[in-house]
Amino acid sequence: MLCLRNVEYANDERKILHSVNMAFRNGITYSILGPNGAGKSTIARILMGELKPTSGEVLLDEEDITGLSVTERAKLGISMVWQEPARYEGITVRDYLILGGKLRIDRDEIREALELVGLPYELYARRFVDKSLSGGERKRIELASLILLKPRYAILDEPDSGLDITAGELIERVLDYFQRCGTTVILITHHEEIAAKTDFSYFICAGRLLKKGFSREVVDYYRRTCGRCLLTGMVED
Ligand code: ADP
Ligand code: MG
Ligand code: MG
Repeated sequence: MLCLRNVEYANDERKILHSVNMAFRNGITYSILGPNGAGKSTIARILMGELKPTSGEVLLDEEDITGLSVTERAKLGISMVWQEPARYEGITVRDYLILGGKLRIDRDEIREALELVGLPYELYARRFVDKSLSGGERKRIELASLILLKPRYAILDEPDSGLDITAGELIERVLDYFQRCGTTVILITHHEEIAAKTDFSYFICAGRLLKKGFSREVVDYYRRTCGRCLLTGMVED
């Protein structure tokens, strides 16, 4: 189980996260739902180790991993598709997906992963990861790389952004795949119809957890409040 315990984050100007508590249990799909600027990416970066919380802890199976780097966490099985994927100019999609040869996987697996994200192998395997790929194609390739990695925890920061109308269907296929291989998904989104596809949701606004529960309930709440930040409804934890 991956947890945030009383996590606060402040930059020079202000507090961005206020005592956030979240738990991600094995094999369940989660969403973190909230409007732009709510603090979702900040939470993802803290889970991944890219940012250190100002106070509070990140726990993995009850061990404090707050001090571990991104690389150390990746070795423990925590991986992420960033909201703004990194660029790895000059290598082919295929080499990118097998981490330059570090992953021992065959062509059929690569083909399957690419097809799961809607990219035909023949058209993409030999393409270069560079500016010639659209934002949506890049996002799909990042998703395929996580599919091949089969991490214990897959953090997806707005995987639907930059994708077209078929995003919902794609997200469903990816969630289904991760559920089958026992990966815990933490899907970050500001679209409630995407959050509705996960089992359990956390709704955050202005750096505070406002509601948590089965996604159906949280999405209902979100619709009733029109996603507005009703600080009276704060979750005590
Ligand atoms: P979300 O992902 O939910 O859209 P973020 O976690 O990216 O929200 O941002 C939360 C808040 O922190 C926002 O108000 C944003 O403007 C602020 N913020 C994020 N990154 C920085 C930064 N590098 N410098 C200053 N403010 C930042
Ligand atoms: Mg955002
Ligand atoms: Mg964000």
